[in-house]
Amino acid sequence: MSEKIRIEIEGQEKDIELKKEGKMTILELPVRIEVAEGSFLHIGSAPSPLTEKKGAVFKVDRTPVIPATSFKGALRHQLELLFIEKVDEFTQLFNIPNDKKGLLKPCIPSPRPTKAEEELINVGKYRKHCEIKVDDRQISVGDLSICPVCYFMGTTGLMGFLRFSNFYPEGEGSVIDQTNIRIDRKTGTAAHGAKVEGEQVKPGTVFKGNVSIVISEPILEMQGIQFGDERKIGDVVIDKWLENWRETDKRNRAKTLIEKVLLPAIQNIKVLGGQRSRGAGKVNVQIAA
Ligand SMILES: [Zn+2]
Repeated sequence: MSEKIRIEIEGQEKDIELKKEGKMTILELPVRIEVAEGSFLHIGSAPSPLTEKKGAVFKVDRTPVIPATSFKGALRHQLELLFIEKVDEFTQLFNIPNDKKGLLKPCIPSPRPTKAEEELINVGKYRKHCEIKVDDRQISVGDLSICPVCYFMGTTGLMGFLRFSNFYPEGEGSVIDQTNIRIDRKTGTAAHGAKVEGEQVKPGTVFKGNVSIVISEPILEMQGIQFGDERKIGDVVIDKWLENWRETDKRNRAKTLIEKVLLPAIQNIKVLGGQRSRGAGKVNVQIAA
């Protein structure tokens, strides 16, 4: 049995085959990340007594790697922005009643938001973190239930539909060691103790990895639910934003979420990693299917 989903990627229709991974059915999207010209990439690794090196880039077997967590963080942020920016378009698409637009609001994923994050909640752009409460065997998810970003990315106690690989460079992956010496403004010589070592991945370096979408898995399958459907725990709907969607074809639901939400959010990732004040981290991200 070979199943495919036809996805429009940058104006071209591509048939992507579904794969079995254990008992899950997944759709794997190959993603290509290129470090932009005029920039460099720095994804730090914690200084360890073994490397003794400050400002080293994250590596596996001496090869620089973009860790899955780094890509994941950038994608979550782009999903948040997309649901804020396209709230009107998505309200129509998913047939959400006008007084329930709040269902599309992304959450601040931390139960302890920073001052700046609290401000975002107060101005109505974000909601508080998503959670599933279980009291006396009663399940509650609040009026807004789980936000659309957590639907994709997951939240505490609830898996999302996306999985991420690390991203490895094509070929060797070139790291340059750029040591910066801060110049003492007064004497014009190297300031004492100001030597900062920093490794950077060169512009033009291409990294490859995958974003996988769990189309179905056994537990949800038992409820007749797959990616694109609203989930239920008992009779509590936990993804209310999908509840009124008129699309009944399961494959079209999955296709639409991929084309209208996931792909634009991936392509909107323009920066990764640290040292951004020094112009680092500019990237071009493409789906390489
Ligand atoms: Zn959420």
